[in-house]
Amino acid sequence: MKKNCFVIAIVLFFLVMFIGSRIMRSQQVCEYQSEEFLMDTLVSISTYGTDTDLLKLATEEAFVEMRRIADLTDRFSEGDSLACNASDVSRINKMAGIEPVTVDKDVVNILKLAKEYTELTNGAFDITIGPVMDLWGFGQEKQKVPNSLEIQKVLELVDSKKIILNEDLCTAYLSQKSMSLDLGAVAKGYAVEKAVNILENQGIKSALIDAGGNIRVLGKKDNEKPWKVGIQDPRDTSSLVGILSLVDESAVTSGDYYRSIEINGRTYNHIISPKTGFPVGDNMSVTVITKDAFTADVLSTALFLMKSQQALALAEELEGIEAVLVNADQEILMTSGLIEKVVIK
Ligand code: ADP
Ligand code: MG
Repeated sequence: MKKNCFVIAIVLFFLVMFIGSRIMRSQQVCEYQSEEFLMDTLVSISTYGTDTDLLKLATEEAFVEMRRIADLTDRFSEGDSLACNASDVSRINKMAGIEPVTVDKDVVNILKLAKEYTELTNGAFDITIGPVMDLWGFGQEKQKVPNSLEIQKVLELVDSKKIILNEDLCTAYLSQKSMSLDLGAVAKGYAVEKAVNILENQGIKSALIDAGGNIRVLGKKDNEKPWKVGIQDPRDTSSLVGILSLVDESAVTSGDYYRSIEINGRTYNHIISPKTGFPVGDNMSVTVITKDAFTADVLSTALFLMKSQQALALAEELEGIEAVLVNADQEILMTSGLIEKVVIK
């Protein structure tokens, strides 16, 4: 009898301790959330922790850094002029075929990294796609389907090998006149990763950044459980094709339903083949899951440009990369390492 009472007392003691610690914890951990429109998309940062002032400060600093990268990489700043407030990318474009331009270290870094993916995709991914985007009118008021002669002319200007970088002097140069950079496929991911670094340096352990389909999580949600992130159905964006469990990693989707344009009743997506000058149609969406948001952003666009099976094979081959593809027949393909990470709906 005495022994039973003793056991019950111990069990009760641990139960009270457990419930007490849970209540204390739930009282302490709070969320700070903030949004800003950057890089043509709504960016939201959610941070979790016990010190609200720190969460707020870290989030504000993260946004300052994202704004800085956005300003450096905006190719439409000041109408592509050489005004002193023109972005680094605008200045590089304006000086194409004329002379190298001194730019921020981060811009040299972005260009250097992006060039590597042109080789990896046999030229399908190329950030000198600017003249082709302009010809179609992406990001501008008026759009048109260009004729084959016009396309031929601008395709000659797409060649990442003609991006000349000097890392010591921090200069960038496009060696042919009328070439232009378009960092739409990479700048968001780079900015998100820089923002996460700021949060980490400030001691934040749990956060989620969502930059219009570019997701990067830090730690676990509330420091407790993996983050659950949905992959949208490309043909019914109110429903999901799958749910990912993420800890300290990024998931970025490139889809044909984002930012597409309509010309004469036909829809054209914004990811263009440098071989044909036309939007690619082999995938409806490609989601890449990996440690950092930059790689995920570059690769989601790069794999989107490839045939589904080739893209899947490349993702399978690359270390630390997982991918979910919805192909043109609306079939879901995914890399083998995803089995524990994704729930297919
Ligand atoms: P989003 O910007 O909607 O998140 P992506 O990251 O997939 O989508 O990037 C699409 C952008 O990539 C386009 O808007 C354009 O700026 C750029 N782009 C288009 N075609 C190519 C290409 N072949 N190689 C590199 N970048 C491209
Ligand atoms: Mg991208």
